[in-house]
Amino acid sequence: MTRTVYLNGDYLPEAEAKVSIFDRGFVMADGVYEVTSVLQGKLLDFPGHLKRLGRSLSELGMGNPHSDEEWLEIHRQMVALNNIEEGIIYLQVTRGNPGDRDFAYPPEGTPQTVVLFTQSKPGLAANPQAKTGLKVISVEDLRWSRRDIKTVQLLFPSMAKMEAKHRGADDAWLVEDGFVTEGTSNNTYIVKDGRIITRQLSTDILHGITRASLLRFAAEAQMQIEERPFTIAEAQAADEAFFTSASAFVLPVVEIDGAKVNGGTVGPVTTRLRELYLEESLKSAI
Ligand code: PMP
Repeated sequence: MTRTVYLNGDYLPEAEAKVSIFDRGFVMADGVYEVTSVLQGKLLDFPGHLKRLGRSLSELGMGNPHSDEEWLEIHRQMVALNNIEEGIIYLQVTRGNPGDRDFAYPPEGTPQTVVLFTQSKPGLAANPQAKTGLKVISVEDLRWSRRDIKTVQLLFPSMAKMEAKHRGADDAWLVEDGFVTEGTSNNTYIVKDGRIITRQLSTDILHGITRASLLRFAAEAQMQIEERPFTIAEAQAADEAFFTSASAFVLPVVEIDGAKVNGGTVGPVTTRLRELYLEESLKSAI
């Protein structure tokens, strides 16, 4: 089945969706995105993703092309037209096509480019990596300093991911001034003596929607949370380590720079948090 994608108001077969070579997203990485996961045909944490989209757009001085109701309707259409039971919806908004390349922003009123596509991922909730865990390496964080804005300039995270793959690992944890900021595409955590430790929010990291929900669910379950930076050495010596993102939910890390965490096995807190996140976020899925 060919995918149906969304481009500026139209639902089209993917091969028919065309964007200009002068689009600011293409020549300047001048765009923002969101990824919402779908389980049982429903959108997870959707209000959180819409709120962050609005914030990313406003931080870059871009308008929001749709109301929350319109975004929901477009997302639901995409789920229905592509028969998505488990998977993700990718959404991107760019500053549009000024008709030429220029560092200055296009004139007021230049239409933004809005693109959505789906990725069907059967087995997302039953990901076997939740049982085996992943290996990560540390890489110096060389991204720009506004990581709280979810822009499409993903070259450095992509380079770090490739370095991880070349070194036989699954992902990279990025380190700045000796402390872990986050993963290439996820927020990072350690567990010590039952406490969940994760870096506090700032412009240094993306404000993960999965992070926000998980910390709320964990607090409601009376678990102890400490929001502060941690080092790679502390993570290697922790009882457990894990990361969160919309498409991974909660996934365990069992090796960091070659050192095994929890003897290389998945710990009980991570397993419990994954169950908790899936259970609770499904309750509010729409
Ligand atoms: N940090 C970064 C750098 C990311 O790219 C992502 C995923 N897009 C996250 C954290 C996790 O955010 P979320 O839980 O909203 O997917």
